[in-house]
Amino acid sequence: VLTSAISTPVIQFIVACAMGLLVWLALHPDILAGITPGQFIAFLTAAGMLAKPTRQLTEVNATIQKGIAASLSIFDLLDSQPEEDKGTYSVDRVRGDLEFRNVSFSYGEDAEPVLRDLDFTVKAGETVALVGKSGSGKTTLVSLLPRFYKHTQGEILLDGQPLTSYSLENLRKHIALVTQHVTLFNDTLAANMAYGEMAGADEQRIIEAAEAAHAMEFISKMPKGLQTLVGENGVLLSGGQRQRLAIARAILKDAPVLILDEATSALDTESERHIQSALEAVMEGRTTLVIAHRLSTIEAADRIMVLDQGRIVESGRHDELLALEGHYAALHRMQFSDAEDGPDDNAPPAGAEPA
Ligand code: ADP
Repeated sequence: VLTSAISTPVIQFIVACAMGLLVWLALHPDILAGITPGQFIAFLTAAGMLAKPTRQLTEVNATIQKGIAASLSIFDLLDSQPEEDKGTYSVDRVRGDLEFRNVSFSYGEDAEPVLRDLDFTVKAGETVALVGKSGSGKTTLVSLLPRFYKHTQGEILLDGQPLTSYSLENLRKHIALVTQHVTLFNDTLAANMAYGEMAGADEQRIIEAAEAAHAMEFISKMPKGLQTLVGENGVLLSGGQRQRLAIARAILKDAPVLILDEATSALDTESERHIQSALEAVMEGRTTLVIAHRLSTIEAADRIMVLDQGRIVESGRHDELLALEGHYAALHRMQFSDAEDGPDDNAPPAGAEPA
């Protein structure tokens, strides 16, 4: 912008100086001896006409600069290292038994470990709620499962097989992920639910998934139903609608392992209720790790694990942990004192803003 903003005035300044010089010469005919007035006027006109093409030349420079900037980011992408994928094991469908054996993880070689000595199992079909203060490592823990990051120590087993032995494509086929940040493509609602491996899925299946995710309610109100375009990154959809789409994706994918990152805020009570029932539908019969913020999810979980500074400090059911009067009881008091007093247990935690 700086280059293109400066170039035109600079060129005009130079042209103006040149014209000024010509006019000065015109006022001193003795210097121009040998040139006829006709020649001089022709020269003056030609010089005046030069200004525009010269300015256009500078615009080319702006285009080139843009091209260079764009190609830099393209080459960056081309040069990026492919994900490490040495595994060869692949299986049609896993049961969903998960085991963490002394798993530690840090984001860099010299960085402080974010997860320390995690040691636990999750049986197939079980729902485990992860709770803990922000920054305690919940998101990091669940990102290890689809191998977004590689654990630095210990071993994670899925159905008794180390995660690293699965081929990346096969591993991710078994995992469905619903996070708070839902990425949407500038395409139809249907294509946003059924993409990648599910692309071209039967419309009936998409509708069933959308219904189970309570997404059909808003989709059927859209002008073109499933064929409505969502706009760049889904600008036309609200937070709750986006999340219901993500849940529909997960239902459609029908993966045995489910990772959920519950939304904390930006949802009104109505969406909150819809999402709650949608989540219950999708969790059924799957191994579920859920970063839980809602009391109802936490109470319904088979087990709650409380993370603090990368360690599991408490683990058990809601009542057991409350009775312990430890970390969980304190967290519970902090987050849910309002929700419990009110008539609606599903109300967002204190401090959450309605959308
Ligand atoms: P939680 O989900 O419980 O809020 P996170 O797993 O997001 O916690 O973060 C745990 C710790 O790891 C935090 O101290 C955070 O700063 C750090 N962390 C998270 N993501 C990254 C990253 N990509 N690079 C470096 N550090 C990170």
